[in-house]
Amino acid sequence: LASRTFKPKDSIYDIGGIKIGGKNFLTIAGPCAVESKEQVLETARFLKEKGVKFLRGGAYKPRTSPYSFQGLKEEGLKILKEVREEIGLKIVTEVMDTREVELVSKYADVLQIGARNMQNFSLLKEVGKLNKPVLLKRGLSATYKEFLMAAEYIISEGNSRVILCERGIRTFMDETRNTLDISAIPVIKRYSHLPIIIDPSHASGDWRYVAPLSKAAVAAGADGLIIEVHPDPQNALSDGKQSLNFDQFSELMEQIKAILDID
Ligand code: PEP
Ligand code: MN
Repeated sequence: LASRTFKPKDSIYDIGGIKIGGKNFLTIAGPCAVESKEQVLETARFLKEKGVKFLRGGAYKPRTSPYSFQGLKEEGLKILKEVREEIGLKIVTEVMDTREVELVSKYADVLQIGARNMQNFSLLKEVGKLNKPVLLKRGLSATYKEFLMAAEYIISEGNSRVILCERGIRTFMDETRNTLDISAIPVIKRYSHLPIIIDPSHASGDWRYVAPLSKAAVAAGADGLIIEVHPDPQNALSDGKQSLNFDQFSELMEQIKAILDID
């Protein structure tokens, strides 16, 4: 179902009146984690001004250490909902567990499946039963075939609106957090009709590399970007090192618009 032989034309989705895929470039931005109402509101106001339509923010955080901030959970979802109502952005947020799918889907416009859950088949099947688009992140060591098969799990349950996301893979390189696999864009596009976006923030783990990787992704034909943006990256509760501040994000958006030739 995810393959080009099944469906030769690129998939285009309508998410509450906004078109995704084909010629429609998708920009998702926002903090790694929801920390407070003020933090999300300030970020959302800024992003809206920049023309961004999708706000990211994790309420459930898959952290490497159990002692790191784990997210505000339902309280975080409520903040996202309030901000959506006040500002009017669509919400992209992660669901980590089958037991939380029902709850998270009440608040999210797009459900995110994190890299660590790419092969959590019960979770994939659960989100496959929903009528909400799913942002599926590539597993840390997943092959293209495994990635597309994970999408197949969702689509085969009836939910066809899957957006793939390359977010860097594990390699021997240790200067960056992961290695952005830019080849994923043309290869996935060869074999699949699904849109594929790039996460330069988790791929690099360093704000310095987010702009160059974003531009490379756009030039290589990515359908969109998901970028971590924080009002005060130095004091972020998670992933501050890779988050752009508002000025850095504004500058990047200008550069991307120039490559895409849009305003
Ligand atoms: C995230 O987007 O905040 C995240 C945890 O990403 P990944 O699952 O790609 O590590
Ligand atoms: Mn993050």
